[in-house]
Amino acid sequence: MKKRIYVAYTGGTIGMKRTESGYAPEPGYLTEQIATMPEFDNPALPAFDLHEYAPLLDSSNMTHHNWREIAEDIAAHYDGYDGFIVLHGTDTMAYTASALPFMLSGLQKPVILTGSQIPLCEVRSDARENLITALMIAARYAIPEVCLYFGSTLLRGCRATKVSAGGFDAFASPNYPPLGMVGVDIDIDWDHVLPLDRGVRNRLTLQPLDTSAVSVLRLFPGIAADMVRNMLQPPLKGLIIEAYGVGNGPEKSRDLMDALAEASARGVVIVVCSQCLHGTVDLADYAAGSALAHAGAISGYDMTTETALAKLRYLFSLNLTPDEIRATMQTNLVGELTRPDEE
Ligand code: ASP
Repeated sequence: MKKRIYVAYTGGTIGMKRTESGYAPEPGYLTEQIATMPEFDNPALPAFDLHEYAPLLDSSNMTHHNWREIAEDIAAHYDGYDGFIVLHGTDTMAYTASALPFMLSGLQKPVILTGSQIPLCEVRSDARENLITALMIAARYAIPEVCLYFGSTLLRGCRATKVSAGGFDAFASPNYPPLGMVGVDIDIDWDHVLPLDRGVRNRLTLQPLDTSAVSVLRLFPGIAADMVRNMLQPPLKGLIIEAYGVGNGPEKSRDLMDALAEASARGVVIVVCSQCLHGTVDLADYAAGSALAHAGAISGYDMTTETALAKLRYLFSLNLTPDEIRATMQTNLVGELTRPDEE
């Protein structure tokens, strides 16, 4: 039986049209383009239904409400299809790919996000390869996770980050091996794919994410304690700090450390990620890291900022206490994190 794939088209460059003010999404345009390309009718491809969102978005306009719309769409069509493609702009694709694994609990079918750097309508576009190969992977391989396919590489969604504004290999997962590489053959690295029967319920359940205030703060030399103190005021419930190296911050700025400690004591969950792409946070390595730990911040280990942000929203949605959230943030839930002590 021919496999059936559901394609959720949310927007992004892949379906954009050239306009006087630059590329912009236009309703119906991508479907028209696909209809003119015989390769999408090729028997080697699965049958697919394309559902176009309204409005189509440049992904820089996306919010967590759009993540919910996508997750609900997949859940509503889950039983009728063998796999799912989410066509998405590249700018915030890694954020959506990081949020969906937490929202789609019990996922046992492939969900693959893809898009392109050049629209499908252009002659030298990467859209054709990205979409065709994503369709083939979703149909042929029962990968039970949210992935991101781009530039010949299949990545775990909650490990991916955008690393190039203009290259066709725009995404990487610096702290986790690719799930698959595409050349003459499609090679899936099954040792790194989540197992099908990983103890979760076999039914898909949708977990909407908490919508209250969380934020990200990138440290920089000379950062003002007052600014951080203001940021930590209610209604903020969680903060990801992008710290230096293995998770260091300016421990000599007493005001800054006091502001963090006061917020932690009030229940604000503060998670330290690294500004470096590769490696893991270890708050015990330097005095500058242990000062952050002393102020109540916890290690985000090797999580991307995109994932730490989504996971915080997810854990807040479960109505846990701040201490329970701190403990679970440091536990691997969907393949998003590796703790050095558990390797
Ligand atoms: N601005 C576009 C978007 O994220 C970029 C792209 O799709 O490549 O929607």
